Amino acid sequence: MKYLLDFLDDLKGRIEGQKKTLLLDYDGTLTPIVNTPREAILSQEMRSTLESLKDDPDLVVAIISGRSLSDIKSLVSLDGIYYAGNHGMEIEYENESYVHPDAKNMKDMISRICSELKPRLDNIEGKIIEDKGLTASVHYRMVSEENVPRVKEIVSSIMARYVEKGDIKMTRGKKVLEIRPNIDWDKGKAVEWVLESIDITGSDRTFPIYIGDDRTDEDAFLAIKNKGVSVLVSSGAKDTEAEYILYNVEEVRKFLSWLGRIG
Ligand SMILES: [Mg+2]
Repeated sequence: MKYLLDFLDDLKGRIEGQKKTLLLDYDGTLTPIVNTPREAILSQEMRSTLESLKDDPDLVVAIISGRSLSDIKSLVSLDGIYYAGNHGMEIEYENESYVHPDAKNMKDMISRICSELKPRLDNIEGKIIEDKGLTASVHYRMVSEENVPRVKEIVSSIMARYVEKGDIKMTRGKKVLEIRPNIDWDKGKAVEWVLESIDITGSDRTFPIYIGDDRTDEDAFLAIKNKGVSVLVSSGAKDTEAEYILYNVEEVRKFLSWLGRIG
């Protein structure tokens, strides 16, 4: 894979003078992976880097996260940027907003699943069950290694009925099981929605740059293939659709501040 910081001159040639849309995952991309979701706080440096980027009139910033929209908004809390929550099922930009209609209808099912999960996982220390409205997560980063298979088994057994009916699907992230409505919508679709929305409001086409670290970001990498630049954040090489790699969050910050400088 191409290490992005070695290819900045190439990239400059591709994007200089163009309007750009910077699409960013949050956890593992803008903040290091931490033990509990609550601990993932933007560093002061990252915050001011994002702040200066969003003030650039030729650049649009979008945060696309698996967290709920309200959660990601309050963590980043910058105005004038796009926010997409629940893997893109809910999107907001100033007074414009979108919620996937089928996902909205399945909120009750997601909350029912969470209330089925809670008692069954009750005696497993370290798990975190998160009802995020349109989707849910079961985090097991803090669960002892010998209990992890049990967590997966319990979740799969409760999910089986819903999955069989075609209502729900499960995806995996870094030490997290994601419970999502079985609809044809993902971070890639959210990226397309954001780019189209910019295309309608603005006069010019915009060059997309997507940075993410996890499996759900692969859909977004695919969505901008041959249209923009995709970057995987990973400490080592991986099977990915992304064109470039950065090794950690600090390198993401370096790249973002470079992007702010080239204009
Ligand atoms: Mg991530």
